[in-house]
Amino acid sequence: MKYNYTSAKGGSAGGGSKIIIANWKMNLSIKESLLFVKNLKLTKNKAVIAAPFTFLPALNKAGAGKKIALSAQDVSSFEKGAYTGEVSAKMLKEVGCSYCLVGHSERRIYFQETDKVINQKILQLLKYKISPVLCIGENASQRRNKATKNVLKKQLILALKSVKDPAKILIAYEPIWAISTFQKGKNKQAAQLSDITAAHLYIKSVLKDIYGAKAAKVKILYGGTVNPQNAKAILSLKEVAGALVGGASLKFSSFNAIIRAI
Ligand code: PEP
Repeated sequence: MKYNYTSAKGGSAGGGSKIIIANWKMNLSIKESLLFVKNLKLTKNKAVIAAPFTFLPALNKAGAGKKIALSAQDVSSFEKGAYTGEVSAKMLKEVGCSYCLVGHSERRIYFQETDKVINQKILQLLKYKISPVLCIGENASQRRNKATKNVLKKQLILALKSVKDPAKILIAYEPIWAISTFQKGKNKQAAQLSDITAAHLYIKSVLKDIYGAKAAKVKILYGGTVNPQNAKAILSLKEVAGALVGGASLKFSSFNAIIRAI
């Protein structure tokens, strides 16, 4: 069913300013990334750029971290040593990262990343005071089989094992079926507002079971085909603390519109 986002109520967003994370994946160039950040102006919402590893030193040096916060898209599950090709949490800290995506569905699907490895990555990041952005979400068949809650619960419990204080953790609810790269055809759709609200409330309830009152500190973002047309409606949901944006973050004009949507 197609959802008309323009008719959704917006404007009186709950929860003050929102966090909008651009997930550039393996796109753009260092030059393009510097121009993008140069053109961004401060907003009441917090812009975070999850850039490829090789862009991070240049973005950090250009002072990007003052106007935006820097995020990596992945981190090693190991602390240091003979792990060819890996980048550690300490190295991310050195180049100014304050956030790092963990467990994105593309890493789970294309790189067979397990919940156990995701947990080890989160523990590494917390050790170096980098906020993990834990991505969780069900695929289309799990959704059809009404397994969404079970999937979310399992992913949360396994990823957060031994995490005593969740205050620095962000959760990105990213239903795989709503991520643009996993959708066929031109008419890509975000999840409906009711799906987003229900999932976020469920995630909150699981976190509360694990952490009690401390769970209130965890920010829960939505990701999956957020664009300038639907951003206001999605970000106005009081359960939604922000958005993780893939495709629409690659163009300055659309990301700029999203961070100014509310
Ligand atoms: C993503 O891959 O994290 C994502 C949210 O992508 P898109 O916005 O393109 O659906």
